[in-house]
Amino acid sequence: MNISIVIPCHNEEKNIPEITERFMKIIKETDLELYKIIFVDDGSTDHSWQEISSLTKKFKNKILGVKLSRNFGHQNAVMTGLKFCKSDLTLIIDADLQDPPELLKEMFDKLKNEKANCVYGKRISRKDTFFKKITAKMFYRIFNKLSYTKIPLDAGDFRLIDNKIVQNLIKLNETDPFIRGLVPWTGFKQIPIEYDRSERKSGESSYDLKKMLNLTLDGMLSFSNFPLKISYYICLISLFILFLLVVYTLNSFFSGQTVPGWTSLIIVILFFNSILFFILAIFGEYLGRIFLEIKKRPNVIISEVTED
Ligand code: UDP
Ligand code: MG
Repeated sequence: MNISIVIPCHNEEKNIPEITERFMKIIKETDLELYKIIFVDDGSTDHSWQEISSLTKKFKNKILGVKLSRNFGHQNAVMTGLKFCKSDLTLIIDADLQDPPELLKEMFDKLKNEKANCVYGKRISRKDTFFKKITAKMFYRIFNKLSYTKIPLDAGDFRLIDNKIVQNLIKLNETDPFIRGLVPWTGFKQIPIEYDRSERKSGESSYDLKKMLNLTLDGMLSFSNFPLKISYYICLISLFILFLLVVYTLNSFFSGQTVPGWTSLIIVILFFNSILFFILAIFGEYLGRIFLEIKKRPNVIISEVTED
């Protein structure tokens, strides 16, 4: 079996040579044959591209560099890399060596032994800032409450996937792809492998707060239309209060304890409030469906068909 390794890079000049050497070594220790290591330079402003170019000369045919015209973001960089994978298997890994390349051996064994289509890295510990750890933990748990595709907790994009999954991923043409949601969405057999996530080897994280929030939003919005359903819940609450108030105000009215006009005023306000939110909820439903429709995800993915 052969394998491609997709590595998105944004200012990773120091890590690129090291990750290459480590993979060249590790692959020799497995039964795998290297198709190509695919570096996607996502608008780096350091010498990443020069490093990639010189590696292509050093390891003829085994390194492919793809340079994007500017920074398009991690997820888009990975998607671009996947489009160049013409191999049985593909490993997606960050350039910064936070995920150990050496785990490939175990991942491959697991994939083979359990006949899985994907083995994803599940972080049992990670050396990141407290803020990053806590927000990431919260994110995965809230995501699964809201989304119709469940994603494994504490798994990033570090995963070994087979060609079936790659082909299905690259057929999608989503504007803001959220890979760690899309891979589980494709189905097939996906199993975890636990590992400790270490510190970034060199350079700085390109995920600032803004990028992290964007990724969170992309994930939430492309896998859930819960936010659009909020109007519907407000409408229900408003109707419930309306009902209580109608009973209360009518009661006050008949016992003569009200200022003239108050009863009707309250009821009219709540009534129209409920209607308004009801209409917004209808809009939300349609908008949600239009959103799903324009993404054009296939309705099903066929895993196998019998042959005669
Ligand atoms: N990356 C990228 N484009 C970006 C940001 C990051 O290609 O706009 C790459 C980066 O080079 C690394 C991976 O995506 O290989 C993960 O990024 P980073 O390590 O900065 O994120 P963190 O691990 O801090 O979440
Ligand atoms: Mg990192």
